[in-house]
Amino acid sequence: MDTDIKSMTLEELKTEMERQGEKSFRAGQLYDWMHNKLAASYEEMTNIPLSLRKKLEDQYPYVSLKPVEIQESRLDGTRKFLFALSDGNMVESVWMKYKHGNSVCISSQVGCKMGCRFCASTLDGWERNLLPSEMLDQIYAITRLTGERVSHVVVMGTGEPMDNFDNLLTFIHILTEEHGLHISQRNITVSTCGIVPKMKELAEKGLSITLALSLHATTDEKRRKLMPVAETYHMDELMDACAYYFEKTGRRITFEYSLVAGVNDTPGDAMQLSALAGPLNCHVNLIPVNPIKERTYRQSGQAEILAFKNKLEKNKINVTVRREMGRDIDGACGQLRRRHIYEEKSR
Ligand code: SF4
Repeated sequence: MDTDIKSMTLEELKTEMERQGEKSFRAGQLYDWMHNKLAASYEEMTNIPLSLRKKLEDQYPYVSLKPVEIQESRLDGTRKFLFALSDGNMVESVWMKYKHGNSVCISSQVGCKMGCRFCASTLDGWERNLLPSEMLDQIYAITRLTGERVSHVVVMGTGEPMDNFDNLLTFIHILTEEHGLHISQRNITVSTCGIVPKMKELAEKGLSITLALSLHATTDEKRRKLMPVAETYHMDELMDACAYYFEKTGRRITFEYSLVAGVNDTPGDAMQLSALAGPLNCHVNLIPVNPIKERTYRQSGQAEILAFKNKLEKNKINVTVRREMGRDIDGACGQLRRRHIYEEKSR
């Protein structure tokens, strides 16, 4: 691919402009248009001479995502965006409004290889990794479309972020550094299904982001039934990686735990989960699983969810139940994109 200008750090952009024989302050202007003013095209960059804009246009394709469909929940205002990428692929992102600010959940890959059984994003396999610019522009495009500032970002949509590690790090760098949107690292959450070596590598990067581990089961046997990744990385290695992350960063890990009726929601599961989360000082986020029609998993009942939460609290575990946002729209991650692909095929 041609050089992706929106994925360059400010330093890289300075070098690139110098290489082009341009004054180095042009790099600052360009960077400001891309990552602070969130320009959707070179055309908007009015303080950059027309001749340079033309040259950039010819040499550097400009990533700017276009919405294909936007759904808005009538229940809570959550908006789901389906964006088209330049190669015809599509990705989903979700915008949620909370008291503490606006949060965007982005995708990190087109499709996913991980095969988690409760997830619609993986049903058609993996297509490709997203570029840093394509991750950034999900946030930028949503800011342009809503006219509201984004304060929190979660990398929890389609894809396994640790499987696109280098691009993830560049994305975090550009999103959080002072010349761009300057979002606090503390307001960024990255989720993983548990790629142990990458969790350890991330721990060594000196970041203060939150790591969320999709745990969903407390024994290897149960976890293997839900998540094929558990065949490769076992529970003891996973817990070691969590301890290492906490030790290195001082950041408390979140355990994401989807409650599936009759599979992982018994009092015994709650006890085992307490035993895992307690020593690591983890926060537990219980997720009433979002049913997808291709699988038979059912959501645990309200009574079971409450009993599960109470049991954890009794064991002094810090626990929340994730509020279900946008229940009336294609809620589960990957569903909107899938529907579109199949509608297009049937046309
Ligand atoms: S839950 Fe995440 S890691 Fe698992 S298949 Fe879905 S997108 Fe991939």
